[in-house]
Amino acid sequence: MAIELEKVEITIIGAGVVGLALAAEIADTSREILVIERHEHFGQETSSRNSEVIHAGIYYPKDSLKAKLCVEGNRLLYQICAQHQIPHQKIGKLIVALNDEEVEGLESLLARGRDNGVSDLQLLSQKEVRQMEPHINVSSALWSGSTGIIDTHSLMKYFETSAISKGVDFAYGCEVESIEKKTDGYEVDIRDADGERFSFLSRIVINSAGLCADKIAALAGIDIDAAGYRIHYCKGEYFSLGGGKHKSIHHLIYPPPTSISLGIHVVLDLQGRVKLGPNAFYVNEIDYQVNEAHKKDFLESVIPILPFVEESDITPDMAGIRPKLQAPEDPVRDFVISHEATLGLPGLINLIGIESPGLTASPAIAKYVKEMIEELS
Ligand SMILES: Cc1cc2nc3c(=O)[nH]c(=O)nc-3n(C[C@H](O)[C@H](O)[C@H](O)COP(=O)(O)OP(=O)(O)OC[C@H]3O[C@@H](n4cnc5c(N)ncnc54)[C@H](O)[C@@H]3O)c2cc1C
Repeated sequence: MAIELEKVEITIIGAGVVGLALAAEIADTSREILVIERHEHFGQETSSRNSEVIHAGIYYPKDSLKAKLCVEGNRLLYQICAQHQIPHQKIGKLIVALNDEEVEGLESLLARGRDNGVSDLQLLSQKEVRQMEPHINVSSALWSGSTGIIDTHSLMKYFETSAISKGVDFAYGCEVESIEKKTDGYEVDIRDADGERFSFLSRIVINSAGLCADKIAALAGIDIDAAGYRIHYCKGEYFSLGGGKHKSIHHLIYPPPTSISLGIHVVLDLQGRVKLGPNAFYVNEIDYQVNEAHKKDFLESVIPILPFVEESDITPDMAGIRPKLQAPEDPVRDFVISHEATLGLPGLINLIGIESPGLTASPAIAKYVKEMIEELS
């Protein structure tokens, strides 16, 4: 006799900030929603290893998902923070230029930001920057007043609590091991922390598995190279700034962006601590060690802007890994948020390559995916 599998309506794989935001957004007591997370708690990977910056949406190509969802996510995040007492601060950011070429770069960024709907950008002269940041060395800067910082853990806790209060179930310590298309959904197999295996049927599966989103897509039967879904790990290390020097900085300070990152910037947290980072280099393995030998490169990047920083002021801090669709030497890629009906997998929604500004965009991604789900109902 065939054993009937348990059924759920929607399964979300991954309890990072994106999976959690989505669970909170689609939660609805009338349908069974399950979040599966391989760690014992939410947000143990990229969502707790980032700059915790609420981005404005300046850098991304016009009409890209990154641009649209970042601009909307910025607005939504400030609303959520205000309504639910999530610690945050709209401290603003300076993107600084040191020479004429970089000044031209700022002008293009200004135009791109305005095209994306970021309305409060302003080019500042050296004198105006000095009034805000007397200790830094710049020719001019682009000021973004709607950039801020957030306590990501509190945000994730809010999303989780909100989802649970509306009936969402969380299976922590459970890893998805296989996904098989059936007539009325997907059979999902998971293994818990004791090695026990369970299977259930889910009508809709949402892949929000961060660094493993390509592997989950492959489990569902997608040829990830043909689809352009292979993830490339791009590591970012931070050094903390000590020696009392953190008191010399009051805003987020960024250099002009590079082709793979926003550049080594000055990150402030809500406790007033200052970190420098992240750098950006491709790796094959997930490993969060910070290589002390990279200190020299950090100093070379920051001293032209922060001339008061000395070698003894910076110490290795933490690292994160970007789940990039962009391979080394490739052009920039957008987020993939795709209902895979055209690949013969109706009801499977993939979220792949959710690198920066994924934290900022998370509430907007959640609304975007909710609309996709509503079309399936
Ligand atoms: C260095 C760095 C700096 C950044 N700075 C910023 C910033 O300042 N502002 C900003 O907006 N964005 C920033 N980002 C981007 C942001 O951190 C990410 O976009 C966001 O955290 C992605 O969240 P996520 O939920 O998609 O992924 P994750 O947080 O990685 O969550 C995915 C989850 O899926 C789980 N999972 C994977 N496989 C399985 C499986 N088989 N079974 C069960 N669970 C599974 C994982 O355990 C993980 O918890 C930065 C990223 C990096 C790396």
